[in-house]
Amino acid sequence: MKISITKKIAIWYAVVLLVMTVGFSAVIITYSNHQAEKAARSQLIDEVADAVGKIRSIDDHIETTGNISFYDDGVYISFYQTDGDLIEGRIPIQISDPPAFKHESVTFLNSGSDSWYIYDEKHNISGKTIWVRGITKSLFGAGNLNRLLQMFIFIVPAFMVLAILGGALLTRRAFRPIHKMLDTVEEIRTKHDYSERVELEPGKDEIHQLAKNFNMLFDDVEESFNKEKQFNFDVSHELKTPLSVIISQSDYALEHEDYQAEALKKINRESRNMATIVSSMLTLARSDTGNLVLEKSNVDLSELCEIIADQQDFIAEERGIKFITEIEPDISVIGDEVMLIRAIVNLTQNAMKYGTGNGNDTIEFRLKQDSTSAVISVSDHGIGIPEQDLDKIWDRFYRADKARSDDESSGLGLSIVRAIAQAHGGLSEVESEVGSGSTFTIRIPLAGGDNE
Ligand code: ADP
Repeated sequence: MKISITKKIAIWYAVVLLVMTVGFSAVIITYSNHQAEKAARSQLIDEVADAVGKIRSIDDHIETTGNISFYDDGVYISFYQTDGDLIEGRIPIQISDPPAFKHESVTFLNSGSDSWYIYDEKHNISGKTIWVRGITKSLFGAGNLNRLLQMFIFIVPAFMVLAILGGALLTRRAFRPIHKMLDTVEEIRTKHDYSERVELEPGKDEIHQLAKNFNMLFDDVEESFNKEKQFNFDVSHELKTPLSVIISQSDYALEHEDYQAEALKKINRESRNMATIVSSMLTLARSDTGNLVLEKSNVDLSELCEIIADQQDFIAEERGIKFITEIEPDISVIGDEVMLIRAIVNLTQNAMKYGTGNGNDTIEFRLKQDSTSAVISVSDHGIGIPEQDLDKIWDRFYRADKARSDDESSGLGLSIVRAIAQAHGGLSEVESEVGSGSTFTIRIPLAGGDNE
């Protein structure tokens, strides 16, 4: 049988409450009865002693002084002759068969629905023996016990029902987010709808917090699911174009011999593009799984940047772009030279592609260092990047400026720059203003630093 946690908790509290109520009540009743009995007994003995002082013998017979009370403070007082004949006094009518006299001894007697304490004292007055008897009701009487028991039979179950209902209500309320979470998981599982969330009512307890975290977790799951979907779509889209060019070109060349050389050129170019995309994707996939293996060595970054700058300056000059270089000497990092070249060249080529044609075709390529890192920056004075695109440009296959994208633009360049910077324990960032240009920066921890 499957019992819900709510029911388990309710049952547990009911049982604990029952045991506690019965246990505490038993202890309290026993103790207070014991005290009351003790008080009743000593009251009984005192009243009898008081009564004894009010007996006297006059002219051969026994009588009491006038101011005696035969029923005082719950104690009945009676006097008897030696043979047991009542001289004077009162006894409870419930006692039909009084017990034999016992000097200075308290006797317990059950009679009808009540119980009684009986205390006797034997006294010799003017040569005559008389018995003084005191009787008082005992709290342990069956009637009292029955009444207590009746109270228990009604009150305890009423309290238990209250406790169970209250407990169940409270736990059900507290567990509501869990039930909602179960429903949400079921919805997500059956409908494959990752946009489902637990509807949260205001609250701050742990379960509420759990449901909130659950929602946040699913925000992440949905985001990566969508990214994955988009990525798969982009990959197939990116590869589809060169593939269809290759197919159509080869088909045409097979039928037109004179076109074969031209077709081969196009096929070669598309195949190279595809190879670049596949290689970039492989790099990114390795970086995602933490398997981007770096061939690390001590890299003289200043020297490396000088070489890159020479090369890029040459390309820039051909395109009429002014390439300004500011490279601080003696900056070294521990890193993968090939990967670092790939990241830096990516930024300079982007600057030439997207950062020109705005009236100032100048590119500044800088290398300096701060207290912890080597800072490589590439600035241009091009059209800049709209603010809403600043985060997205690092995403795979994202192209902000589609008009300037050429055959070699896959939208993977900056993703690779970031992956390489991160694999070196560094970071990549961009500052840009529409119309004024952009500055892309890579920071790589210096050789000899903590991150080495
Ligand atoms: P792509 O292969 O398209 O160049 P990247 O990942 O290198 O891919 O760049 C992503 C997008 O970022 C580009 O399509 C372009 O819109 C934008 N971008 C990159 N560098 C610059 C720059 N220097 N100035 C303006 N936009 C840039």
